[in-house]
Amino acid sequence: MNIHEYQAKAVLREFGVPVARGVPVLKPGEAAKAAKDLGGPVWVIKAQIHAGGRGKGKFKEPGAGDKGGVRLAKSAEEVDQYAEQMLGKTLVTAQTGPAGKQVNRLYIEEGAEIAKEFYLSMLVDRTTSRVAFVVSTEGGMDIEKVAHDTPEKIVSFSVDPATGLMPHHGRKIAEALALSGDLAKQAQRLATQLYAAFTAKDMELLEINPLIVTKDNKIRCLDAKISFDNNAMFRHPDIAALRDETEEDSKEIEASKHDLSYIALDGTIGCMVNGAGLAMATMDIIKLYGEEPANFLDVGGGATKEKVTAAFKIITADPKVKGILVNIFGGIMRCDIIAEGVIAAVKEVGLKVPLVVRLEGTNVELGKEIIGKSGLNVISADDLDDAAQKIVKAVKAAA
Ligand code: GDP
Ligand code: MN
Repeated sequence: MNIHEYQAKAVLREFGVPVARGVPVLKPGEAAKAAKDLGGPVWVIKAQIHAGGRGKGKFKEPGAGDKGGVRLAKSAEEVDQYAEQMLGKTLVTAQTGPAGKQVNRLYIEEGAEIAKEFYLSMLVDRTTSRVAFVVSTEGGMDIEKVAHDTPEKIVSFSVDPATGLMPHHGRKIAEALALSGDLAKQAQRLATQLYAAFTAKDMELLEINPLIVTKDNKIRCLDAKISFDNNAMFRHPDIAALRDETEEDSKEIEASKHDLSYIALDGTIGCMVNGAGLAMATMDIIKLYGEEPANFLDVGGGATKEKVTAAFKIITADPKVKGILVNIFGGIMRCDIIAEGVIAAVKEVGLKVPLVVRLEGTNVELGKEIIGKSGLNVISADDLDDAAQKIVKAVKAAA
């Protein structure tokens, strides 16, 4: 689960992490008061969307001005004016995709005077089963580019959970950022605070870009992105309450209500598969034959007819879907259940695109019979290869 920057900063503040004072704003009328409460003389107005690259982003509407999603203001009037321009408008950044995201919240912060910009992130490193730190002196910019062009400028290490964060970890960060004296001490304290926050709140990713040194020699987190481990949400009701469903894919929200593992993708072929491995293989083979999957969907082992119906409805409701491939290897899942679910869904919502069904395994004969008798216009396939070729062909023919 992802949260907004202003929420992330509030979580970090609980652990003593240095962040600027700020006020979230939902209506244009609230901005000037927020600015006055904060005091100035410089404010930053930051669009709150679940995507980075806001500073370099562009609004779609000309009325929003050409200054991007992070703006410096020198008076309360200017804060007010920017808020008016940005709220409700659509911000397109390198991370939003061309459709962009509507800005429904702003964060007004006291502006910082930046002397240096660094990069710091933490993540769960699955190869070492530890929490890893990634730090670089090259902050504020595209870290992927730094990793590609100058990998020696990125320092990373992981923390043994048995010892937790040790003083030498903090020293390593200070050294990587070429900090000494009091700034080194501040960096060490920050490492302790961030590690405490990361582990206590079951984070999956914490990215501070940039981490800055101010002109008066203070370390501060200027930006913050946090993703939490969904599997741990049950023990953090305070974090779960921060969820902003308007930032999430509506198809994914619907799928999560039915306990379906669904990820929306950009392609044209909707997939309904049982088992994550088979779902991945299905996506691969669609690509092999020259089309792109519209989603990842694993209906799971013991899916009911209702769950299959819900899954099929989510796929057909996606306007990008130009064809559907149902690929089931019945083990625990029975092919007749899948067949009944598909038919129930088609009866409800209709079928406007080609549908290829490949069934194998438990109750396969019964499943095929149910589909055969249904009168549905289904293209049946014998194996995965055959199925992928048939759906790609059908989609290309219809295009
Ligand atoms: P992002 O573009 O979505 O990653 O948003 P950031 O929060 O990282 O802000 C983008 C850039 O705006 C930063 O890299 C800074 O250069 C600048 N910026 C953000 N806050 C301040 C501030 O308080 N003072 C100054 N001078 N610049 C800021
Ligand atoms: Mn940033």
